[in-house]
Amino acid sequence: MQKSITGVKEEDPYNNALTQLALAAEELQMDPVYYQMLQFPMKEFITYIHVKLSNGEVKSFVGYRVQHNNARGPFKGGIRYHPAVDLNEVRALSMWMTWKTALVDIPFGGAKGGINVDPNSLKQEELEDLTRKFTDAIHNIIGPEIDIPAPDVGTNPQVMAWMMHEYSKLKGYNVPAVVTGKPIEIGGSEGRLEATGRGVAIVTREAAKLILKKDLKDVTVAVQGFGNVGSFTTKFLTDMGAKVVAISDITGGKYFKNGIQNFDDLYRDFQQYKGIGKLPYGDDITNEELLESEVDVLIPAAIENQITEHNAAKIQAKLVIEAANGPTTPMADKILEQRGIKVIPDILVNSGGVIVSYFEWVQNLEREHWELSEVNQKLENKLVKAFKDVYDYSQKKSLSYRMSALTLAVERVVNAMKLTGWR
Ligand code: GLU
Repeated sequence: MQKSITGVKEEDPYNNALTQLALAAEELQMDPVYYQMLQFPMKEFITYIHVKLSNGEVKSFVGYRVQHNNARGPFKGGIRYHPAVDLNEVRALSMWMTWKTALVDIPFGGAKGGINVDPNSLKQEELEDLTRKFTDAIHNIIGPEIDIPAPDVGTNPQVMAWMMHEYSKLKGYNVPAVVTGKPIEIGGSEGRLEATGRGVAIVTREAAKLILKKDLKDVTVAVQGFGNVGSFTTKFLTDMGAKVVAISDITGGKYFKNGIQNFDDLYRDFQQYKGIGKLPYGDDITNEELLESEVDVLIPAAIENQITEHNAAKIQAKLVIEAANGPTTPMADKILEQRGIKVIPDILVNSGGVIVSYFEWVQNLEREHWELSEVNQKLENKLVKAFKDVYDYSQKKSLSYRMSALTLAVERVVNAMKLTGWR
């Protein structure tokens, strides 16, 4: 058993991803050859990285890059820095990227990378050294036409800047399109930093309208996690008028009876007190209490396996919006479905990040820089269309939103494999 930020990692994410694929294969009556191929990543790369710390000690880490499928375009997906990273987690996350890029119809496949490190335990120079060594190790298997990394849990634009520079040094020329999620000054896209959270808020707005038949202003929300995704989700939902009553991070949770009034004030205090749990106001709540709180919408925005067979019966929200990757296990899915709780799946909800990553890659290849308003409009169009596709398909086929999104995505990947003759 491995400890994770919010508790114990009790289920294997790769197993969960395989269960989802099996369900989609059954629904699609998929040709067994393609089903067989899709269960395995195309390539897996493991590297051991040794970093000399400033105190003279040497620390060793394991780095991974798993390339699941590239039938629809170059491999694409983030790099995670987290102590619980292991091969099966990265495998699962890479498969979910394949489905995500297919669902929102951008010309990429799926990949994921990671290092089993707590980035907060390292000094800035040590983190840079780790990142550059990892980039050296994977430089032959990444590239603008091969595989394009991006940020994920524990990584950020600064890490992407180091990766881009290290890769460019090895090539001998500047290659901005090798990673996305870069700082704007060196070829990052306007709007990329906040894109995932903006997307989550857009999907929540659409889901509230169509499924709850409610305007966002009449909706209460709990958000688990206050990293890049959780914090921007909270910001945009608050700006759009939703009542965000509960938030949490690794330091604990807070309940605000009247909802968050001013996000900027809250964020300033969060930085000053160094954690949501440490804020001097709001009612203290635990992670479990947040997940089981009485709200209209629950948004897990941390890591995998937060809603499991153990707590699914206690969830009180009417709608679960999966901002994290893999927060609900297949067993929990069943329980929620029986209880009439709708789940909007991760591959749709958090796709705003990779959508704007695609825009960043296009801008880099064309040597262009788009205005924020253009990026946001394009993001909105893509997401609203993907949401409608999933919603309509679920109505037509009487499928859950998860199954509807998965089957739509998997079918597109299989089609690309068939057209290009993968057997
Ligand atoms: N790590 C993000 C995700 O899970 C973004 C990936 C990307 O932009 O390539 O979707």
